[in-house]
Amino acid sequence: MRLYIVLITALISPLALAAEPQPRETRAFEARALQCERLFDARSGKVLGAHTVVVREGKVAEVLPGIVPVAGAQAVDLSGHTCLPGWTDLHVHMTDESSAQSYSEGFRLDDVDYAYRSVGFARRTLMAGFTSVRDLGGHVAPHLRDAIASGIVEGPRIFAAGTSIATTGGHADPTNGFNSTLSHLLGPPGPTEGVINSIDDARQAVRQRYKEGSDVIKITATGGVLSYARSGDAPQFTVEEVKAIVDTAKDYGYRVAAHAHGTEGMKRAVMGGVTSIEHGTYMTDEVMSLMKEKGTWYVPTIYAGRFVAEKAKIDGYFPDVVRPKAARIGAEIQNTAARAYKAGVKIGFGTDMGVGPHGDNAREFLYMVEAGMPAAYALQAATIRAAEVLGVEDQGVIEAGKRADIIALPGDPVADIQNVMKVDFVMKDGMVYRTPQG
Ligand SMILES: [Zn+2]
Repeated sequence: MRLYIVLITALISPLALAAEPQPRETRAFEARALQCERLFDARSGKVLGAHTVVVREGKVAEVLPGIVPVAGAQAVDLSGHTCLPGWTDLHVHMTDESSAQSYSEGFRLDDVDYAYRSVGFARRTLMAGFTSVRDLGGHVAPHLRDAIASGIVEGPRIFAAGTSIATTGGHADPTNGFNSTLSHLLGPPGPTEGVINSIDDARQAVRQRYKEGSDVIKITATGGVLSYARSGDAPQFTVEEVKAIVDTAKDYGYRVAAHAHGTEGMKRAVMGGVTSIEHGTYMTDEVMSLMKEKGTWYVPTIYAGRFVAEKAKIDGYFPDVVRPKAARIGAEIQNTAARAYKAGVKIGFGTDMGVGPHGDNAREFLYMVEAGMPAAYALQAATIRAAEVLGVEDQGVIEAGKRADIIALPGDPVADIQNVMKVDFVMKDGMVYRTPQG
């Protein structure tokens, strides 16, 4: 009888837990003492020896040298592990994942389908060690952000751009590739849909994003690889339009991220004052010096480049208009990242996930190291420097008073970068989502 009850309880309790999640607060405020065999100091880029990180009320309370007992805090054994600040991926699309069906599913799926799909993507991203992401385009993302922040869905903290801003026919014009009947029925998209063609439109588009609750502004300064359009690199905004966007964005405390492959469009975006260049494929020496002069960040997204170049080899994966762009532009990004690093352009970590499979984000570290960046530099790009790109001061380092976003992995990631693929402890805002014990 007793065994029977135990069995029933064992069967029922996980179900009951799944049906009724614990209130977020009671879990978040549990005090913990993380016993880290090594600690990555994001400021110096050095791996330090053993430390005990005390977490209370969602924040780092103390960082103590050695493994020491802490009264009133539950000890978490991370022997053999290196603790790091939770990573940030500065370029994702949480509601998409590319496939051979990507170009037609927009005609079949509703926003609610994308929203449900994003729940799994968000969870995979968090479990891979990414406690924050900047979502650069997708109007479901601000809603996912809110669902995660309120504890309904497990995922990284999201800084969402919402709808991207493009010009007519540009990379992010939502009606690219539509037939004439559909185009006629819908009419030309405007600033509300993220398409601008003047300075006034530019201001309206930014204000519309404010109304919709964006955290950051994304523009597509040149053509894109995956859009249903011929050019992947033509400039698509005037400098004046970029300036109008950046100036209006400042009114709302927004930073601007610019997708750019071609040189001229990239140059105009930098001149116009954007915070970061995304992809940056045909970045010339001239653009690199301009970026250094202006303090512009570069987020290479090597992952996406390699992924699309690989998929371009498969017949039918991409539409004919996209395939040559994917082969040509994709293959170039890693070389550009190598040159930009050597030239001293500031680099932030980003994958463009949603092109590739969510949860595999850490592979970008391997590609960055392949491109000649030291492992510690790559890890800083996803921690302390990513926080700088976002303009936030409460994350990116493990120090008293910062958010308790802490991950851990077996081994030393600076000695062997392959270890980044082995994250098995994840804490966000002091809540534990994953432990080596399972
Ligand atoms: Zn993107």
